[in-house]
Amino acid sequence: MTFKTLDDLTDIAGKRVLVRVDLNVPVSDGKVTDSTRIERVAPTILELSNRGAKVILLAHFGRPKGAPADDMSLAIVRPLVQDILGKPVFFASDCIGGPADETTAQMENGDILLLENTRFHKGEEKNDPEFTAALAKSGDIYVNDAFSAAHRAHASTEGLAHHLPAYAGRTMQAELEALEKGLGNPAHPVVAIVGGAKVSSKIDLLTNLVKKVDALVIGGGMANTFLAAQGIDVGKSLCEHDLAETARSIMAEAKASGCSIVLPLDGIVAREFKAGAASEVVAIEAIPSDAMVLDVGPKSVEKVNEWISRAQTLVWNGPLGAFEIEPFDKATVAAARFAAERTKAGKLTSVAGGGDTVAALNHAGVADEFSYISTAGGAFLEWMEGKELPGVAVLSR
Ligand code: AMP
Repeated sequence: MTFKTLDDLTDIAGKRVLVRVDLNVPVSDGKVTDSTRIERVAPTILELSNRGAKVILLAHFGRPKGAPADDMSLAIVRPLVQDILGKPVFFASDCIGGPADETTAQMENGDILLLENTRFHKGEEKNDPEFTAALAKSGDIYVNDAFSAAHRAHASTEGLAHHLPAYAGRTMQAELEALEKGLGNPAHPVVAIVGGAKVSSKIDLLTNLVKKVDALVIGGGMANTFLAAQGIDVGKSLCEHDLAETARSIMAEAKASGCSIVLPLDGIVAREFKAGAASEVVAIEAIPSDAMVLDVGPKSVEKVNEWISRAQTLVWNGPLGAFEIEPFDKATVAAARFAAERTKAGKLTSVAGGGDTVAALNHAGVADEFSYISTAGGAFLEWMEGKELPGVAVLSR
């Protein structure tokens, strides 16, 4: 995959650069509760501003369904963007038309302007050509730094690249380079860990992975479905019995592709799904009929870590157990710390992301020790599923 980056941009002083960023931060009582997304796009914005470009930020915020809504105005986010950048951020009350034209016309080199929520217009999510052309009027160059929105072909994430010369921002670039190392063109052996609640939400993911990786570790609630499909009694565990056939066919595909499937050898069982519930370790063939498996057991962790130590590349989505509730976080924490150690020792490239994975790895205290942790959610999962992301495809040379 080749794409243009900010390194390919020369002579940008005075140019109007439309930068698609992800500012869709969580807000409670009018206050932003997590600024990670803003921090991630700050380097691109500052680099462009410091190089003298007129930086015009485009973003969506919430789901206003194509009409203005006060509680989804990016004006709420603007003060924090300004604080994090340490530079003034101007604001236009509409991303197209009069307000956008007037404010962009007043910009000086290095200025940063935030345009109002693109999703206040129906044309954004429809990738409507007229709306895209109206957006494009404000810029000379388009930079996309919002990997997390790249699985959507919207006007600001895909359409604009057909109107203006298009470049990947620094965060997009880092994400694409990490993903390339993870699954695009990885060093083998590649081991994938997939956990989480259900097989049903990850069928495409599992089907793609068995074709690409050397070993697939299945943990979490979804392992129960695989175990049950092989005739193991999983008691009261979370299990999608109706997906037994799907599980068997994924295992058959794995075999045909030479991918080892690694299932739990033991489990931590409890009778209640609550913190501190009485629990015990049992062999996987001896799950009591009135109990549920809430984590994989110590023998399984040993086996997972053996696979990690053999791997050159690890991709990880989903916890091995119900990590939010102690003591069912043990396996996830142990495997995450081991992967972090191997990464620090220079023996492993570790890429993780999607859903609860970021929270699980934060809980294990290894968030900064993996090679790359994607906070992109849906886009990361679609990439792991092997799907083409429209916002990325359009950037490819
Ligand atoms: P996902 O969003 O599919 O990655 O699923 C994450 C969720 O799976 C977390 O909330 C975990 O608590 C849950 N989970 C993991 N293992 C189990 C298990 N053995 N039984 C029930 N829930 C689990």
